[in-house]
Amino acid sequence: MVEKIPQHRHCSRCGKAHLGEDRFCSDDCRATSGDSLKKKKRQLLILYAITVAVLIIALFFLG
Ligand SMILES: [Zn+2]
Repeated sequence: MVEKIPQHRHCSRCGKAHLGEDRFCSDDCRATSGDSLKKKKRQLLILYAITVAVLIIALFFLG
C-alpha cells in the first residue's frame, strides 16, 4: 500500500519538506536565509556549470 504524500514544499533554506505555502519551514530559516542567499545562488551557479560541463564531456565521449 502506497501512502500518499500530502501537498508539501521544500524549505528554501534547509531543503526540509514542510506543509503550507511558506518558502521556509521555520522562522529560523526565514531569518537566516537572507545572509546565505547570494552564496547559495553562487553555489547553484557553480553546480549548474559543473553539470553542463559533465554533460558536454559525456556527449563528447559518447558522440
Ligand atoms: Zn528550513
